[in-house]
Amino acid sequence: MHDRLIHLIYHSVATRPLDDAGLLDLLSQSRARNAALGVTGMLLLDDENFFQVLEGPQEAVDAVLASISRDARHQGLTIIIREPVAQRAFSDWTLGCTRLDTSQSGLTPGLNDALGDCGPGLTGVTDGRARKLLQAFRDGHWHSRPDADGSAGAVRHEAGHTAHASPATALQRRRRPARGVAPLRFGAHDRFSVAFQPIVDVGRRRVLAYEALVRGRNGEPARSVLDPLRGKALYRFDLQARLHAIQVAGELAHELDRPCQLHLNLLAGGQSDDDSRMRALQDTVDAAARHGLQASQLVLELSETEAVDNYARFLARANHCRSLGVQFALDDFGAGHSGLNLLADFQPETIKLDMHLVRGISRHGPRQAIVRGVLRTCEDLGIDVIAEGVETLDEYHWLRSEGVLLYQGFLFASPGLRQLPRPHYPRVH
Ligand code: C2E
Ligand code: MN
Ligand code: MN
Repeated sequence: MHDRLIHLIYHSVATRPLDDAGLLDLLSQSRARNAALGVTGMLLLDDENFFQVLEGPQEAVDAVLASISRDARHQGLTIIIREPVAQRAFSDWTLGCTRLDTSQSGLTPGLNDALGDCGPGLTGVTDGRARKLLQAFRDGHWHSRPDADGSAGAVRHEAGHTAHASPATALQRRRRPARGVAPLRFGAHDRFSVAFQPIVDVGRRRVLAYEALVRGRNGEPARSVLDPLRGKALYRFDLQARLHAIQVAGELAHELDRPCQLHLNLLAGGQSDDDSRMRALQDTVDAAARHGLQASQLVLELSETEAVDNYARFLARANHCRSLGVQFALDDFGAGHSGLNLLADFQPETIKLDMHLVRGISRHGPRQAIVRGVLRTCEDLGIDVIAEGVETLDEYHWLRSEGVLLYQGFLFASPGLRQLPRPHYPRVH
């Protein structure tokens, strides 16, 4: 597993402005080095800032980073993201480049690959965090100096080389879990059932995903099924519920106009040993494959408090799944005490704003201030935000005016027992 594919995104500050000749020189050196090591990537820059995505085998990316961090042409290198990925976003570029201030570059050949080839929207780059972060940078995030109009820019990062120890190392040494799926215990689905609730993208007016929610066999609430369970029985059930949800989602999938994602709740902590936890994840992915779902359609929802308890191990497990393309969401963000702390060390693809933060937000100053801060943080890290438990038009309108586009809540659709409910899209005034 030494050749695990990762991507790394950093920001740094140019020691002095690079003219076109200097940039072409930098690019030819970098491209030769990247080609030799099997690293691909994208560089965005303006007069003062470098913002670069590197992707490739972990050791090669780290080697390139080490040499980049010794380069005197920039300083204050800050690592924003370093994590496993299932595939490259820039497989065609040894190093694509886009200069954001056109004042100097004009039409110099060899520059502005990304804009030239993909247009300013960076279309053509696969969806994913790298693209979101490039867009965030293009929109003015992660700039270390005041903007041209004199307004204050982002805080200057002087952290220097902040490379952190690879969270993947522990996992690499661990043997792979045995394949094979624990069969559903006989009669298990006589005792419980599953409901699905859509998560909608109001910008595109479509269902992004369905979240599976356990129910009693006659639709009794989740708590009535989960509350009696303790310890190992709870963790065993947690897996059974996911397997059942995958099976039913697979049966209902033909009703959908287009494939969408499936959100599954996951208890990551618990008493069981690492091997059985890993197996529970692998079993989930295998079951999805058997029911016609790709790993990249799975989003595992972890609750914030759950995740922190066993945090180092959780990171290793999470990263193993990410190499397969599985995504993660932090559920009930803002409900625990250490959500922001957790984001410093693990950046899920998505967070779900806790519904207590959402409740009555249009008239609640402190909640508004907290949510604005979380939105800004997530934008800087390429994390999508879902507002959960949205019940009223006032809540929706406030969140929408702050740019939130992903929603789950009774306002759009209630969970449907063994159904994939169609959402309702309220009008925005
Ligand atoms: P959760 O994962 O945060 O799920 C969202 C909960 O919010 C669901 O409650 C859903 O029915 C409810 N909800 C959705 N929209 C609204 C709204 O507009 N207003 C209000 N007031 N509530 C809304 P539910 O199904 O009762 O589940 C409660 C919790 O039980 C879940 O919270 C999750 O933590 C846990 N859970 C449910 N199913 C499973 C499962 O299969 N496995 C595991 N491990 N936990 C599950
Ligand atoms: Mn959930
Ligand atoms: Mn939730």
